[in-house]
Amino acid sequence: MLPSFGRRFLSIRSFSTVVSRTTPVTGPSQGQISREYPIVDHTYDAVVVGAGGAGLRAAMGLAQKGYDVACISKLFPTRSHTVAAQGGINAALGNMGRDDWRYHMYDTVKGSDWLGDQDAIHYMCKEAPSTVRELEHMGVPFSRTDEGKIYQRPFGGQSLDYGKGGQAQRCAAAADRTGHAILHTMYGQALKYNTKFFIEYFALDLLMDQDGACRGVLAMCMEDGSIHRFRANETILATGGYGRAYFSCTSAHTCTGDGNAMVSRAGLPLSDLEFVQFHPTGIYGAGCLITEGSRGEGGFLLNGLGERFMERYAPTAKDLASRDVVSRAMTVEILEGRGVGPNKDHILLQLSHLPAEVLRERLPGISETAAIFAGVDVTKEPIPVLPTVHYNMGGIPTIWTGEAVTMKNGNPDSIIPGLMAAGEASCASVHGANRLGANSLLDIVVFGRACADTVERKHKPGDKQAPLPADAGMQSLENLDRLRHSNGKYTVAEVRTSMQKTMQNHAAVFRRQDLLEEGVRKMYDIYGQLDHVRLRDRSMTYNTDLIEALELQNLMINAVQTMVGAEARKESRGAHARDDFKERDDATWMKHTMSWVDLQTGKVKLGYRPVHVNVLNDTDGVQPFPPQKRVY
Ligand SMILES: Cc1cc2nc3c(=O)[nH]c(=O)nc-3n(C[C@H](O)[C@H](O)[C@H](O)COP(=O)(O)OP(=O)(O)OC[C@H]3O[C@@H](n4cnc5c(N)ncnc54)[C@H](O)[C@@H]3O)c2cc1C
Repeated sequence: MLPSFGRRFLSIRSFSTVVSRTTPVTGPSQGQISREYPIVDHTYDAVVVGAGGAGLRAAMGLAQKGYDVACISKLFPTRSHTVAAQGGINAALGNMGRDDWRYHMYDTVKGSDWLGDQDAIHYMCKEAPSTVRELEHMGVPFSRTDEGKIYQRPFGGQSLDYGKGGQAQRCAAAADRTGHAILHTMYGQALKYNTKFFIEYFALDLLMDQDGACRGVLAMCMEDGSIHRFRANETILATGGYGRAYFSCTSAHTCTGDGNAMVSRAGLPLSDLEFVQFHPTGIYGAGCLITEGSRGEGGFLLNGLGERFMERYAPTAKDLASRDVVSRAMTVEILEGRGVGPNKDHILLQLSHLPAEVLRERLPGISETAAIFAGVDVTKEPIPVLPTVHYNMGGIPTIWTGEAVTMKNGNPDSIIPGLMAAGEASCASVHGANRLGANSLLDIVVFGRACADTVERKHKPGDKQAPLPADAGMQSLENLDRLRHSNGKYTVAEVRTSMQKTMQNHAAVFRRQDLLEEGVRKMYDIYGQLDHVRLRDRSMTYNTDLIEALELQNLMINAVQTMVGAEARKESRGAHARDDFKERDDATWMKHTMSWVDLQTGKVKLGYRPVHVNVLNDTDGVQPFPPQKRVY
């Protein structure tokens, strides 16, 4: 029996009452559910949900170490959103001049606006050079310098000498298709070590036992609708972000926060969801990303008066200031009437002054994207751009080992047995309130690997497994069945659009109390509409109608926590910029938001957990970086 699954998914008796609100029929009995959805059982040492960079690195690492590992993915692995990453991956390799991972650590702590956990940041930045070299040895086709070293470009928020030595060149790149190169290489490696893939399987819910331990995951094969129960000593969630909670975002349509929602449905908290990164340069209208690497290669932003306005906002770093800083500056220019176009509602990214060979060799992908989605020839004209939702700093709270945590008996870092997370779904928290460009590809490989290492520390291949609760997965099937037969007054698309517009208008680049309060009210209202959706397709064969409805439930669980967390946080920090509380307030707010959802009503409960201000150990000679004012 899942401990706190919420009333929406509760027992069969309450199920019939929930159902009766959307369909006039009485709910099926548990016996009927089991007959309708026979379960295929599997047992593995570990199960990884997600086959993006994080999931593949974890699965491949485990397979390499001799574990029997299943990797479940709703997408074919190489279609995961990691494939779209353009700019690159940070590591202080020092290939283009001197560098030091300690500078990288400082930049990341500063970029996080002192909300990042410094022990996890310490681990990630120190591991970065060896991780990137490891990728090179696995076969990632990085761009090269004339000497044959991995090419590294400047990226936002990167400095030498702890912010005093000017711009660093730390972002290792494979042209502007770095994610594509990494994902394909990693998939090849995972196959090489015989990872068992379950492709186009949609994970529905965690299987929790009465002690609060995770014992595996329930999934549906999308091709034939068969239901599969994966039992494992460790479950690693690597399901990516939930950018699609917003109307305009750079993320794929599949970024719906499924793993996060599974954690919420298990009655566990998510962390820091109010921190949503807006990337400065999404193509105006289409939302597709134009990499920060384009500014790294010498591109710059222009307002409607033809001014390089970033010089006013970040005199030193200019166009390569941190993403939150650039997005806010662009928004201010537009709000103050200096935008571009008939409606003065966007900004221009100027690239045509760059040598044609730089555009051809270093930025071929975005040249193509600009031609297709903006109708612009980058060798001749600037690209119209606008800040667009890009990344979720928050997610499933973990410590630097990848183990998921909750707050229990006064312990803010209480490890949840059997549950881990990595990648954008997780919150380690290395990005704190704002992620630096090219730190996510790093995060996914470093913490994907850390998860495999942690499993090795805790279990041997073939270790005995605890029994599953007799009714494991049953509530999840009840929900599936209810949705599949739902016949309410809203289509999934209608409810999704209302949610996306509300998030876009009420939890945007700049936030304000009255807007946020209204946002919370609207989101609770829209959450209620979930009970009144209708599906047309009742089949079990590639029922995309059903999958979209499940994804909408998941998005909504993420969205409502984002809005409530943002309303509560009365300060400005990183990506969370409040018009009415303009300053960072360390005395009150240097803490992680933790949020729980009542699944029946959508009501969110908040708690707070301390930021780790310690480093891993002192043998490296690094000390924690005390909070400073964040200027670029
Ligand atoms: C356009 C774009 C460009 C970017 N560029 C960069 C960059 O240059 N540098 C950088 O550092 N970062 C970049 N980022 C961010 C970075 O790419 C992502 O944060 C990162 O790749 C996420 O990897 P992931 O493995 O956590 O998740 P993803 O790659 O999103 O993979 C998620 C996986 O989970 C699976 N999944 C999800 N839900 C379910 C479910 N219910 N059942 C089964 N499987 C499920 C999916 O099938 C998929 O395999 C970019 C992001 C975008 C959107």
